Amino acid sequence: MITASPSVALDIGHPRLSLIQGITLKRNSPMAKHLVLVGGGHAHMMTLANINAFVAKGHRVTVIGPSEHHYYSGMGPGMLGGTYSPSDIRFATKHVVEKQGGVFVLGKAVRVRSEERQIELESGETVCYDVVSFNAGSDVPRLNLSEYTENIYPVKPIERLMDAQARIKELASQRSITIGIIGGGPSSVEIAGNIWQLTSGYGENQPRVKIFAGSRLMAKYPEGVRARIEKSLKSHGVEIYTNGFVQTIEPDGIILASGERYDLDFIFLAIGVRPNAIFERSGIPTGPDGGMLVNSFLQSTAHPEMFGGGDCIYFQDHPLDKVGVYAVRQNPVLYNNLMAALEGEPLQVFSPGGDYLLIFNMGGGKGVLRKKWLTFDGRIAFIVKDYIDRKFIKKFQAIE
Ligand SMILES: Cc1cc2nc3c(=O)[nH]c(=O)nc-3n(C[C@H](O)[C@H](O)[C@H](O)COP(=O)(O)OP(=O)(O)OC[C@H]3O[C@@H](n4cnc5c(N)ncnc54)[C@H](O)[C@@H]3O)c2cc1C
Repeated sequence: MITASPSVALDIGHPRLSLIQGITLKRNSPMAKHLVLVGGGHAHMMTLANINAFVAKGHRVTVIGPSEHHYYSGMGPGMLGGTYSPSDIRFATKHVVEKQGGVFVLGKAVRVRSEERQIELESGETVCYDVVSFNAGSDVPRLNLSEYTENIYPVKPIERLMDAQARIKELASQRSITIGIIGGGPSSVEIAGNIWQLTSGYGENQPRVKIFAGSRLMAKYPEGVRARIEKSLKSHGVEIYTNGFVQTIEPDGIILASGERYDLDFIFLAIGVRPNAIFERSGIPTGPDGGMLVNSFLQSTAHPEMFGGGDCIYFQDHPLDKVGVYAVRQNPVLYNNLMAALEGEPLQVFSPGGDYLLIFNMGGGKGVLRKKWLTFDGRIAFIVKDYIDRKFIKKFQAIE
C-alpha cells in the first residue's frame, strides 16, 4: 500500500498499468521493486540522472522533496552577492525525475516507519519502499527564536538567500542598517563577503556588517587561510567580534554571554549545521550528531534496505566534515549500491578520499584557496572556484 499527494496515484507491488501525472508506466516485472529517494541533494545527483536505468529494469522510483528544485550550496553566497541568478545554481529535480519515468512527490519526509517500510510526510501521507536512500541534508539550529523572525535568516536552505537578498535591498533602500552574522565559520565569512559585494554601491546606505565569531574567526582552519580571510573581510569594512558567544537572539539584536548587547536590523544564523532530524525521530541508529549511522557501503547499520549520503549521514568508519565535497564523492557508490540492493548484486565500499580543495568566495570576484601546502588569495582563486562550480552544476542541468 502506498499513499502520496492526491494528484499522484501510486500503486506499488500490483503489476498493472497505472497513470501517474500523465505518464503511463510500463507493466512491472514480478521482481519489480520500489526505490524511494528522500531529498534530491548533492549525493543523489548521479542517481537522479540515471532514473531511467532503474525504470528500464522494471523498478519504480519515487523522489520526495520539499522543493521542485535543488540548489547548489557552493554557489549560494555568490547568488546572495548577485554573481549568480537562482536559475544558474539550481537543478530541476521534479522535471528530471518525471522526464525519466519516475514520480516526484512534493513534500517533506518527517519520519521513517522502518517496520512497515514507510516514509511519513509532513502532510500525514505515507510512501512505501523496498529500498530507500536519504540525502535530506542538514539544517541550521533555530535556537530559541521568538515568533518575530522577519529579519532573521538561517544560511540554509540556500533558496532562502534570495529572500534575504531582497529584504536587505529593501531595508537598505530606506536607511542605513546593521547586519549581524552569528557564527565565524566558512558560511559566515562567505556571506559577509557577498553582502559587501551586493551593497558596495549603496554609498551612505551601505550596511555595516558585524560577524560574531565567538572566540576566533575560522578557528578550525590553518593560520594561512584564516589570516587571509580576516584580511579580506577587514578590507571591506566587516567588523569581527571575538569577545564571546551569542547567548540570546532578539528580533532587533543579540546579547553575548557577557551581557553585552548589539543592536541589529538584520541577522544571519551561521552557527553550523545539524543533520536532518528524521532519524532521531524514527529511532533509526544515529551517530553522535544525529546523522543516520552508515557502514562503509553507505548503508544503515541496522536496516540493510536503507542507504544515505551527504550531510544527513554519520559515516561509521570515521566522521566526515559537513561539506558538499563528500556528498559529491558519494554519488557513484550510492548509485551503484541502490541498483545493487534492488538487483541483489554485491555492494561497493565508499572511500572518502584524501584532502580536498578548499576555495572561499570572499566577494568582489576574489577568493581564498587552499590545497595541501598551497594557499593563496585573489582573483585566480575565485576564477578557479567559479569554473569548478559552473562545470558541476551545468553537468547536471544538461540532463534537464
Ligand atoms: C552558505 C553555504 C555555503 C557552502 N559552500 C560550500 C562549498 O563551497 N563547498 C562545499 O563543499 N560545501 C559547502 N557548503 C556545505 C554544503 O552545503 C553541504 O555540505 C552540502 O549541501 C551537503 O549536501 P547534501 O546534499 O547532503 O545537503 P543539501 O544540499 O542540504 O540537500 C538536501 C536536499 O534535501 C532536501 N530536503 C531537506 N529536508 C527534506 C525532507 N525532510 N524531506 C525530503 N527532502 C528534504 C532539500 O530540499 C535539499 O534538496 C556550504 C554550506 C553553506 C550553508
